[in-house]
Amino acid sequence: MTPAERRAILTRARDLFNAGEYWHAHEALETVWRSIISDGDKDAAHVWQGLIQGAAALLHLKRGNQHGVLVVGDAALDKLAGPQRSDIEFETVNFRQALERALAGEGNPRDWSSAALTENGRRMTHNVNDRYDVIIVGAGPAGLCAAMYVGRGMLKGLTIERGAPGGELLNTDLIEDYIGFESIKGWELAQKMAEHARKFGAETLTDTVEKIRKAEDGWFDVATARGHTYRAPAVILTAGGTPVKLGVPGEKEFAGKGVSYCAVCDGAFFKGEILAVVGGGDAAVEEADYLTRYAAKVYILHRRDRLRASKILQQRAFANPKIEVIWNKRVLEIKGSAKGAEGLQLEDTVTGEHSSLPVGGVFIFIGFQPNSGLVDGHAKHDASGYFVTDDRMMTTIPGLFAAGDVRSQLTRQITTAVGDATTAAIAVEKYLTALRQTD
Ligand SMILES: Cc1cc2nc3c(=O)[nH]c(=O)nc-3n(C[C@H](O)[C@H](O)[C@H](O)COP(=O)(O)OP(=O)(O)OC[C@H]3O[C@@H](n4cnc5c(N)ncnc54)[C@H](O)[C@@H]3O)c2cc1C
Repeated sequence: MTPAERRAILTRARDLFNAGEYWHAHEALETVWRSIISDGDKDAAHVWQGLIQGAAALLHLKRGNQHGVLVVGDAALDKLAGPQRSDIEFETVNFRQALERALAGEGNPRDWSSAALTENGRRMTHNVNDRYDVIIVGAGPAGLCAAMYVGRGMLKGLTIERGAPGGELLNTDLIEDYIGFESIKGWELAQKMAEHARKFGAETLTDTVEKIRKAEDGWFDVATARGHTYRAPAVILTAGGTPVKLGVPGEKEFAGKGVSYCAVCDGAFFKGEILAVVGGGDAAVEEADYLTRYAAKVYILHRRDRLRASKILQQRAFANPKIEVIWNKRVLEIKGSAKGAEGLQLEDTVTGEHSSLPVGGVFIFIGFQPNSGLVDGHAKHDASGYFVTDDRMMTTIPGLFAAGDVRSQLTRQITTAVGDATTAAIAVEKYLTALRQTD
C-alpha cells in the first residue's frame, strides 16, 4: 500500500468513525492494520488493533450488546494504553480517554461520537462563523458538488452534514454509470468528491439540520441538533431522502436485528443466510444481486407480477441462481424472537392466501421519502413531497434552492444530483449579486 493510499483510507476511516459508521470504519482501519502487519511493525499493529477494537466496542454499544462492549472495549483500552506513538496517525491518548468515558456511559449515552478519532496534531474542531453567503444542507453528491462550485466561486459557504460525506454513495457498492468512471466503488467516489470540494475550500460541519426558516430580514436561519443557528441569505438543500418503511408489525421491533434498509451496510452480517428483499424497483433488484455475495439464497418479494427495475438489472437478477422472485406477495408481518427476525407472514395479492416464509433477514427497498420536512414554511412540492424548482433550482421560497434527490424530477441519479447542484451553486452566485444590487 502506498502512503497516499494509506492516507486516503485513513481519512475515510476517520470520517466513517466520527459519523458513527463503526462497521465500515472497522473495515477501513483493518485494511491499514493488515498493511502494517505485512510491514512487520508489531508494536504499531498492536495500537492499530486497539483502534479497530474501539470501533467494534462502539458498534456493540450502539446495538445494545453489553457483553460485547465489555469484552472488546476492555481489549481496546488495554491496547491503547501508553503514550502517543508519533507514527500512529490518530490521537490515541485522547481517544482512549474518550472511549473509556463513552463505554462507561458517561454524559449523554447516545453521544458515542464523544470518542471521536482526531488526527495527530490536527484537531477536527474548527471555528464556525454563524454568517455565510450560502449554507448547503447535506453532503451527498449534490451537496459536495455544490460546495465545490461555491468554493470556486469565492463565496463563503458552509456545508452541514449529519454523517460521513457521500450520502447514498456510501450505501452503494459499485457504480458503473457515472460518466468517466467505468466502475468505481461508492465510497471511493464519495471520497474523491469530498476531497475535490475540500480542495476548493469547502467548510464542512458534522451536525443535523433540524429547521430552515426564512427570517423577516430575508436571511435564512439554519438550526441544528447541537443547538447552533447559522445564517445566510441563500440555502441549497441537498438532503436527499430516507427509505420508506413497510409499516408492518415487527418492522420496528427487528430494525437492526434482521431488518435492514441497506444491503451494503448490513449484507456481511448475513453470511450463508436465506434473505428476503422486499420491492421491485432498481434498488431492490440491485441490492438483491449484491446480497447474494453473502447469502445462500435471496427471495425478491414483489406485490405485482412484474418488476419495475430496469431491464439490465432484471436480466442480471434472473440469471443469478441464488435469486428467486416471488410474485404477488405482500408482507403482513415480520416475525422473530429475541435473536432477531426469523420469518415473514405473507399475503397473496391475487388470491388473498396467507403463507409464511422463514428467512434470516429482510431488506426493504420500497422507495424513498424526500427529506423536505426541514423547511419551515411552504415551498411548492409534488404529491410525493419532492420540491418543485424553477430551471435555476430555486424553490418557491426566494433564496431557497433544492438539488439532487430532494427535488421533483424524472430520475434520481448521481449525474442528475451533481447537475442540479452545479446549476444551483451558479444560480446562488447570481441571486446574491442581484440581491446586493438592490440593497
Ligand atoms: C442502493 C442505491 C444504489 C444506487 N446506485 C446508483 C448508481 O449505481 N448510479 C447512480 O447514478 N445512482 C445510484 N443511486 C442513486 C444516487 O445514489 C442518488 O441519486 C444520489 O446519491 C443523490 O444525491 P443527493 O446528494 O441528492 O442525496 P444523498 O446521496 O441522499 O445525500 C443526502 C445527504 O444529506 C444528508 N442529510 C439528510 N438530512 C440531513 C439533515 N437533516 N442534516 C444534515 N444532513 C442531512 C444525508 O446524511 C446525506 O449525506 C443509488 C441509490 C441507492 C439507494
